[in-house]
Amino acid sequence: MKFFFILGLFFSFFLKAYAQHNPWDSLPHWSSLQRYNETITAPQLERLLQTVYVPDGSWRSWITITRETAFIEPYPGAPQRIPLRLANSPADCKPVPRYFKRPQERKPLPGKPLSGLHIVLDPGHLGGAWSKMEERWFRIGHTRPVEEGTMTFFEAKILAKRLKNLGATVQLTKNHLGPTTPLRPWQLRKSAIEDLKNEGKSSWTPRELQAKEEILFYRTAEIHYRAQRVNQEWKPDLVICIHFDAEEWGNPKHPMLLPSNRLHILISGNFNKNELTKENDRYALLRKLLGQVHAEEVAIANAVAKAFEDRAQVPPFIYHNPLTARPALDSNPYLWNRNLLATRLIEAPVIFCEAYSMNDPLVFERIQRGDYPGRQRIGGKKYPSIYREYASAVTEGLMNYFGR
Ligand SMILES: [Zn+2]
Repeated sequence: MKFFFILGLFFSFFLKAYAQHNPWDSLPHWSSLQRYNETITAPQLERLLQTVYVPDGSWRSWITITRETAFIEPYPGAPQRIPLRLANSPADCKPVPRYFKRPQERKPLPGKPLSGLHIVLDPGHLGGAWSKMEERWFRIGHTRPVEEGTMTFFEAKILAKRLKNLGATVQLTKNHLGPTTPLRPWQLRKSAIEDLKNEGKSSWTPRELQAKEEILFYRTAEIHYRAQRVNQEWKPDLVICIHFDAEEWGNPKHPMLLPSNRLHILISGNFNKNELTKENDRYALLRKLLGQVHAEEVAIANAVAKAFEDRAQVPPFIYHNPLTARPALDSNPYLWNRNLLATRLIEAPVIFCEAYSMNDPLVFERIQRGDYPGRQRIGGKKYPSIYREYASAVTEGLMNYFGR
């Protein structure tokens, strides 16, 4: 029995090694999930799958849960299912193997309420000269160009300073504008062609191919690279992905400004049937679920969203398609479960902040003012710098959650 199991894993290794083509892909280590043996009960596992991670129920086609064991089919037709032993009751659960500390495991120093907390800040996108390529750039006439990746980097530096002053150990996923992955678009041609074929295309223009290479570079390869460093090098207690949201702005040289200010915070979850056709994604989902970070992610996001609501009075962004995102907490309309690459790859608790709307007229004006101390009058009301307001809200939320 054991011999066939090992033979099956060996065979699957070669099948997948053969199929692998993306430079960022690593082989799922299905058998490593067994380190989560007896860390969760059958009802707890089923509840997390059905209410958080795969609410469309499609997990049932590859996971079978009995009272004692969950049987996981790593890929269709696999010779052997991966057994995960389940705990008899919550009291019998073994500790979840995890490197990140729970709040109660920290012993903060007096006057440094966040000491002992290791936070990675992940400023979204590349920014700087790369902003146009990544379509995170617009400009009205001769005004200051709005570049999300440049703004998130600036924001992360302000926030890092505040959190360090409170005792936290803070690390950014990058220390310069631009990419962190050593890969470049031209190296991703094979993956780009594969993707175009998977989209049903049999021919494409050089521009279409280049666009595909670029998107694989600045999104897929870059996010994989950062997540890999978070998981393997930095191993923090918490990751905060920093973004500025926007409404469709159309032509970046003649962008539309629309009243659209808003906020939402995303938490890993809501994988759908189509997304779960990929073996790597099914593996990432289970690793995330079995790390049991969801409750903590919701609690942290809840505290940060409340602080934001108090300080910035921005309305919640509402998703209307449950295939994309579903509410994460009934009592807080700012929190959504959504399956994003960054949040599913990072093992530690991670919250993904989508704050403001860069092409809302007031937000646009605040971005034009840049960073400044105190408050400035805009349209009859006084506002702090948008960067300081963002940093204050996140800091206050973290203090309310961790600093007590
Ligand atoms: Zn973004």
